[in-house]
Amino acid sequence: MGYWIHLKRSLDQAMMHRDRCLEIPSGPHRADYWQGGWEEYPDKDSALDALENTDATSQLKCPVCKP
Ligand SMILES: [Zn+2]
Repeated sequence: MGYWIHLKRSLDQAMMHRDRCLEIPSGPHRADYWQGGWEEYPDKDSALDALENTDATSQLKCPVCKP
C-alpha cells in the first residue's frame, strides 16, 4: 500500500495520507507552489521520513484515513 504526502505551502502544512484516501485527487497530480503538491511514497517508513523532512511547520496525519 502506498502513502501520500500533501504539502500545502499556503498553510505551512504537510499532511500524510494512505493510498485511496478520499482526499487524494483523482487524475494527474499537479504541483503548485502555493497550493502545494502531492507526492507518493511506496511505504509508511519513507512517507514518515519525508513528512519529518518537509519544511512545513505543521506535520499532520490525515484525520480521514488515519495513516
Ligand atoms: Zn487522508
